Amino acid sequence: MSELNSTMKTIDQIRADFPILSREVNGKPLVYLDNGATTQKPQIVIDAISKYYEFENSNIHRGVHTLSQEATDAYEQARVKIQHFLNARYSHEIIFTSGTTGGINMIASSLSKSLNKGDEILITAMEHHSNIVPWQMICEEKEAILKVIPINQKGEITLEEYANLLTDKTRLVSFTHTSNTLGTINPTSEIIKMAKKHGALTLVDGAQAVTHGKLDVQEMDADFFVFSGHKLFGPTGTGILFGKEEILNTLPPYQGGGDMIKTVTFEKTTYNELPHKFEAGTPNIAGGIGLGVAIDYVQSVEFDFIQKQEKELLEYATQELLKIDGLKIIGEAANKTCVISFIVEGVHPFDLGTIVDKMGVAVRTGHHCTQPLMDFFEIPGTTRASFSFYNTIEEVDILVKALNRALGMLR
Ligand SMILES: *Cc1c(COP(=O)(O)O)cnc(C)c1O
Repeated sequence: MSELNSTMKTIDQIRADFPILSREVNGKPLVYLDNGATTQKPQIVIDAISKYYEFENSNIHRGVHTLSQEATDAYEQARVKIQHFLNARYSHEIIFTSGTTGGINMIASSLSKSLNKGDEILITAMEHHSNIVPWQMICEEKEAILKVIPINQKGEITLEEYANLLTDKTRLVSFTHTSNTLGTINPTSEIIKMAKKHGALTLVDGAQAVTHGKLDVQEMDADFFVFSGHKLFGPTGTGILFGKEEILNTLPPYQGGGDMIKTVTFEKTTYNELPHKFEAGTPNIAGGIGLGVAIDYVQSVEFDFIQKQEKELLEYATQELLKIDGLKIIGEAANKTCVISFIVEGVHPFDLGTIVDKMGVAVRTGHHCTQPLMDFFEIPGTTRASFSFYNTIEEVDILVKALNRALGMLR
């Protein structure tokens, strides 16, 4: 793993960009394998946030004074960076949100106004709760029907079964690009193409997708695409909703308040243009600027390098974990990212996670906000190791050693 990337950074230099990676936990070097929950932040992102508060803090889109104009410019530049990152056609198709959850709720709320009794919304069996519950809420309110595309034992959806669920009443297909629990990468373009044949809108949950590879919303042809800044090396409380201009223009606004209006009288309010129509109130300015810098950082590392590194980690970790007696991997899709969920016969994931934490290893245990998926596999939860490009083969070895020691105590 001493490969050089195109900016000629070694893996050690990359790790040095992330100050937290050199700390100790419980007297042991931190081995951070919970990147599916949130990724760590490079120093330049941390610096951008404190620089904003030290030198630039001001409200945006409001003042004529220099500080306000500088803050507005920095925030709007971040929007343009995100536009290019996703290859959206226009920067006004990029709406700042509080995260993936915020983006999905925004669309659910706006779409619900035109949802009719008997309309259908499709999701998959591997969705995060944030792509289940908002649809359940509006379906209940509007007497619409939520249908679930099933998966097989490997954790893949089958397109034939999906095709059978699509009808001319399908208003929306909302699905995850990449599963946070199984690592499955869904056939996104295929799913969207099939939805469009029935005139349905599509929303892609990109929370786990954006960190692992280049995405192109135009090529994908999604109507909506959402992700969280904190899973892309950026700050918490930031997120993005991409929506096609022509569709966002037809939707009613989500929240009312400052910035989203053109004119207000007590009799009638007219709404602002995109993207401001969907951005009521003072946003997370420092966060948005930080997210822009996080994207600069990822692009400087380059996805070719990231994918090569992550593929090696996935293959090696899978091979080594499977050597552990009684260990079973949950999620064996042919097309999979470097997220490995597993169970060990007779051992509760919580106990395993607690013991390996004592050895400095951070993994996630539980249902990973995908309870219906746990029910499908008939398990209470899993232990999940999720990798990023700054993880190393040596850390996989430490994980496996820690698991073996923990299992020695537990069974
Ligand atoms: C993390 C995650 C979410 C929710 O993201 P928030 O940042 O908590 O809003 C939704 N979907 C997937 C696939 C995720 O991994």
